[in-house]
Amino acid sequence: MERKIVKLQGLPVDTFSFDEAIDYALHHNGQVVTINPEMIAYAKKNKDFAAIIENADLITPDGIGVEIGLKILGYNVKRIAGIELARRLIEVYTADNKTIALVGAKPEILSKAVENLKIQIPDINIIYTQDGYFQDEQKVLSELNRVKPDLLLTALGSPKQEIFNNKIKEILPRTLAIGVGGSFDVWSGVVKRAPVIWQKLGLEWLYRTVKEPKRFKRIFPTLPLFVINVIAERIFRKV
Ligand code: UDP
Repeated sequence: MERKIVKLQGLPVDTFSFDEAIDYALHHNGQVVTINPEMIAYAKKNKDFAAIIENADLITPDGIGVEIGLKILGYNVKRIAGIELARRLIEVYTADNKTIALVGAKPEILSKAVENLKIQIPDINIIYTQDGYFQDEQKVLSELNRVKPDLLLTALGSPKQEIFNNKIKEILPRTLAIGVGGSFDVWSGVVKRAPVIWQKLGLEWLYRTVKEPKRFKRIFPTLPLFVINVIAERIFRKV
């Protein structure tokens, strides 16, 4: 399957449907980035981070912000929630007898998430876990290099997880590595996702901000600025 990439604020985004993204990811290695407006804003300031996104092997539109941005540019692409992509990847990799490693989150969150995943997906083959508050990165990288997972889920928040996964891509070219943000917190049962109706309306970000007001500064002014920048991009393109 060929990638169908469009550019948003100068960065590539794959326009696969959810099922296409899963199918593509199952048959490819490398780094999956679930891109959002905060990451795009950070990439504008940081060339190294922009390069990591550009070199990623699959870049999925995570959230309503990117979906709206693409729509402004005339692309009808449906958002893919990173947590759902990651969860389905676990299922298809498990069905394919592949091995999985989880890196990130607080130790008790990680172990609860693993426990729940093992109940929900009994055949899951988790060969390595490491919480996200390690000091010795080299040690974690070399342990991963020893066990060589087929699928690596990294929950370190952005940009840490993308930088980490980029290093993994160098040392483990056959692994598929995806940054999953707060997914382990949700899988542990400690953090709840927004009710489905909020998700469907594209308002999960608002729900999370209300529940956790310190997230407010992550969304403002990033989200409105992002929309303004994309409108400018659209106008500039027409000239
Ligand atoms: N995290 C971590 N190590 C760190 C910083 C964060 O393991 O040094 C974890 C944190 O415990 C949480 C996850 O990264 O489980 C993602 O956090 P965040 O809420 O920032 O995720 P996002 O909003 O990006 O999905």
